[in-house]
Amino acid sequence: MSFQVNFRKFRKIFSANLNSEIDVIDDFLIDGITTDSRYINPGEIFLALRGNTFDGHDFANIAVDKGAIALIVDHHISVKSTKQIPQIQVKDTLLAYQQVAHWWREQLTIPVIAITGSVGKTTTKELISAVLSNYGIVHKTKENYNNEIGVPKTLLELTRQHDYAVIEMGMRGLNEIALLSQIARPTIGLITNVGTAHIGRLGSKEAIAQAKCELLAEMPPDATAIFNHDNSLLVQTAKKVWKGETISYGLEGGDITGELLDNQTLRVEGMDFPLPLPGRHNALNYLGAIAVAKCLKLDCNVLMQGISVNLPKGRSRRYQLSGDILLLDETYNAGLESMKAALELLKEIPGQRHLAILGTMKELGEKSAELHREVGETAKALGIDHLLVLVDDPEAIAIADGALGMVTECLPTQEELIKRLTEIVQPGDRLLFKASNSVGLNRVVEAFRSWG
Ligand code: ATP
Ligand code: MG
Repeated sequence: MSFQVNFRKFRKIFSANLNSEIDVIDDFLIDGITTDSRYINPGEIFLALRGNTFDGHDFANIAVDKGAIALIVDHHISVKSTKQIPQIQVKDTLLAYQQVAHWWREQLTIPVIAITGSVGKTTTKELISAVLSNYGIVHKTKENYNNEIGVPKTLLELTRQHDYAVIEMGMRGLNEIALLSQIARPTIGLITNVGTAHIGRLGSKEAIAQAKCELLAEMPPDATAIFNHDNSLLVQTAKKVWKGETISYGLEGGDITGELLDNQTLRVEGMDFPLPLPGRHNALNYLGAIAVAKCLKLDCNVLMQGISVNLPKGRSRRYQLSGDILLLDETYNAGLESMKAALELLKEIPGQRHLAILGTMKELGEKSAELHREVGETAKALGIDHLLVLVDDPEAIAIADGALGMVTECLPTQEELIKRLTEIVQPGDRLLFKASNSVGLNRVVEAFRSWG
């Protein structure tokens, strides 16, 4: 980002959020707006956010020393440096961040593709970005910066050099996606699915569907809604809230129907696309990316050569260990749908034995026991050979309950789990590790990898 701005413009952007009249600031060129004093560069504005455990105002002086050209703050900061810089005082600095991000986004005329859904947001975002990078310069959400701070951050990183913006939007409750959609004003809104993530907070799948579809409800009328046809609750809810242009995609039907020829090829409208990531769930995610390319009227022939994606850690990561042991690292997160998808993926990999090492799925509220049990039932139905459950939390025991009748072990600590793995894993085994991120199963993966 880099734009010419003067105090009148800020007065207009912040309007009722302004706390005091802005001192007259000459026109100046802003290279960016940064909220983290560790990463601020000369020429940028420092905006002080408040969190539960930090207050950005405490770091304003560091930002000044590092060359910040102005401050956006909610009270006057006594600047220790002899170099005095303009201070723009607002009532709410987070709102100011969102306001300026929205304003900047409105200056740009590029396609803005927003993605939400219960699972597969980051994967689909990466796939869309990889597809679009064949046609232009893409700016995408970094890591998982998908909330009320991350979305403005991503928008403010856009420059006039970018051809596409690909923005992930996450939520924990109602009205959150609506806000993100209002800020980003997507030209394309894609919803991957409606599942059970955050059901503890929202209460029902219907409420989750409603929350996801806020993305569409807040889009400009000339935008296009793209959603997964195979998820009927999603289709019903999306059709209720969105009356504009729509493209549905699916493996079971939809405007764009994909056929999984084998585990490596997806056929769409007579064209064969190599699958960049394994598994049926990833074929659906890729179909979403192809739908975006089609919506933008891009020549999809280019994609028949294949694309490559590098997902962030803990998602669809495969490690080949000595003794032909294959390890699937899915430790970044877990919900019912992604547990099922990962177990199916594990089972599809040819190998001697299939072992699932699973832990708690967090934030499932009242439905927790039922959903954990369903995971165990799925493992059993798929014919997984050996189940190891890390019972860091009593909720995880329900996985073993659901798997009654198959070889199952419950281990109370990570240390005991690692020890047990070193005893039982044999050459040729296929291992899946999956739990919610906070369980820390990634540490077990690291320990086991260094042992193997
Ligand atoms: P978060 O809410 O944490 O941002 P996310 O929606 O971005 O999650 P991803 O990070 O893309 O989701 O994927 C998380 C895990 O979910 C993956 O490791 C994979 O196991 C699984 N997954 C990805 N896509 C799907 C899908 N379409 N259906 C079911 N499971 C999926
Ligand atoms: Mg994500």
